[in-house]
Amino acid sequence: MCGIVGFVGKDKQLDKEKKSLSVLIDGLRQLQYRGYDSAGVAFFEDNIVKVYKEIGIESINLLEQNVISKVSSNLGVGHTRWATHGEASIDNCHPHQVGKITLVHNGIIENYSELKQELIHLDYSFKSETDTEVGAALIDYLYHQTNDMNKTLLEFMKRVKGAYALGIINSDDPKKLFAIRNENPLIIGITNEGRNYIASDIIALTSYTNHYIEMKNESFAVIKDNNVSIYNKSGLLVDNEIKIYDMGNTEISKNGESTFTLKEIKEQSCVFRKSVEKYQKSGTLKSLPSLAKYKKIKIVACGSAYHAGLIGKYLIEKFAEIPVDVEIASEYRYNKILDVNRKTLVIGISQSGETADTIKALEHAKESDLDTLGIINAAGSSMERIVDYILNTCAGREIGVATTKAYSAQITELAFMALDLGKKLKHIEKEEYQNILEELKTLPIKIDQILNTRDQYLEIAKIIMNKNDVFYLGRGIDYALAMEGSLKLKELSYIHSEAYTAGELKHGTISLIEKDTPVLAIITDPNLASKTISNCKEVMARGANVIPVITDSISNLEFKNNSIVIPTVHPLLQPILTVIPLQLIAYEAAVLRDCNVDKPKNLAKSVTVE
Ligand code: GLU
Repeated sequence: MCGIVGFVGKDKQLDKEKKSLSVLIDGLRQLQYRGYDSAGVAFFEDNIVKVYKEIGIESINLLEQNVISKVSSNLGVGHTRWATHGEASIDNCHPHQVGKITLVHNGIIENYSELKQELIHLDYSFKSETDTEVGAALIDYLYHQTNDMNKTLLEFMKRVKGAYALGIINSDDPKKLFAIRNENPLIIGITNEGRNYIASDIIALTSYTNHYIEMKNESFAVIKDNNVSIYNKSGLLVDNEIKIYDMGNTEISKNGESTFTLKEIKEQSCVFRKSVEKYQKSGTLKSLPSLAKYKKIKIVACGSAYHAGLIGKYLIEKFAEIPVDVEIASEYRYNKILDVNRKTLVIGISQSGETADTIKALEHAKESDLDTLGIINAAGSSMERIVDYILNTCAGREIGVATTKAYSAQITELAFMALDLGKKLKHIEKEEYQNILEELKTLPIKIDQILNTRDQYLEIAKIIMNKNDVFYLGRGIDYALAMEGSLKLKELSYIHSEAYTAGELKHGTISLIEKDTPVLAIITDPNLASKTISNCKEVMARGANVIPVITDSISNLEFKNNSIVIPTVHPLLQPILTVIPLQLIAYEAAVLRDCNVDKPKNLAKSVTVE
């Protein structure tokens, strides 16, 4: 979701002043992973604030060619927009300029309609459909009342409802960059070289500095070339810890692969190894000693993380016998919480730790005094600050917008949680526990075996690439995998697909099955296999082309062609293998259809709006 980057001060490292704006382009490129549909920059040139905008996937390159290489400036901001209010157009693209104020924004100003009416009565007019332009007009109006930016920003925070991170330029003040943070992430990059920065994520600044301050919620900052002052919502100066980002963790390379997504799919055996190492060093629950005391678990998450939560439900219920509910985070946060007895643990799962819906759901749980745990991939996130316990996944940085290795890392942590709780609560015998530990050692080889048979996924992709609809079927944990497989196909290849529990299709949706409709059947649970196979026969009798993803211990004789056969492992670990063919089929279909796999249209990596 949108990226913000900004700077104030000369770059002493650069001999040619011409390049002084390159941080905006470098930063926006690093933030592309968040998803965007347009980009823009604003900067001071000869004491005048200039604004340039471009639309589409080439917008950053166009800004670089047309603007950045030609001008010099000591203060500027850049933005990649992921539209929430108004289509991707030049008028709606950021930066927005109203009177003396020019700004970039990540988030949503929820009361923008009322504020807009008020400002229209005060003679402001608007060019765009965005909430952001209303924010710019409000700041301009408040500044005209007070002539003081600190008072203006304090008043802005009082009047505006919603989530926002803002980078602001005031044309009266070419030496100060202003920033506000409420909910959405914003960091300040610090140097002692007469130049400071802002960004949505420190990753945007790693070529310029690794020292940064994470702005706290409900704070604003006045940033000069040699000084940074941060104020809380009462207008009082606050101290902020300067953190150092470990540059070794950036991993921003495709490692010889054609896309980040393929590289990340292939990294899954390595991610699993790292997770096992961490587990064996500390035991998943060593840092969380009291989880076995909870009588119920509630998992809240969105998208693939929600599907990972469903895997967690099956595993924890089966192996630890603790009841688990999984709820979509954006729904949970508006539901009445009935289990306010402190025996429920609420687990939020988020790759970025910035997912607004999941953060809000966890806050909702905290309001009822429930304990919370975050399963998070990115360190130092907003979610880390609100939860009682943290479980960090070992996926490393994920650039592909549609998650692959971060999802696998989430289900691995949930499997280890089920394993630890099962052992502690004596539902897993010592011998079985030892067998599972032994199997952990051979799993990476089996992951690589699946990855190394890519041709067969390409063959399946050829079958589905021109279809309008694909169905995914599964029972039990295989249904949770079917949901993830179906989502991956939609995200990467834009082919419509739906996942059904195998027994449910005949209760209505079977009417959509026609000759050659592709149906991917996930069959890995030996106890449910015969039932799912019967459901496959039902759709085959109506012409469907069933493609099973089936373990080698279950007979696939019912299916003539195109079976994807994967190794059978302990049921606790099976989903870690089963998801890989589903990811690769979606990937190959997307490549055949010439889709932008790393940056699928309309999607954002870090969904920081509700
Ligand atoms: N709500 C703003 C808009 O639609 C900002 C969206 C973003 O975070 O990129 O322009």
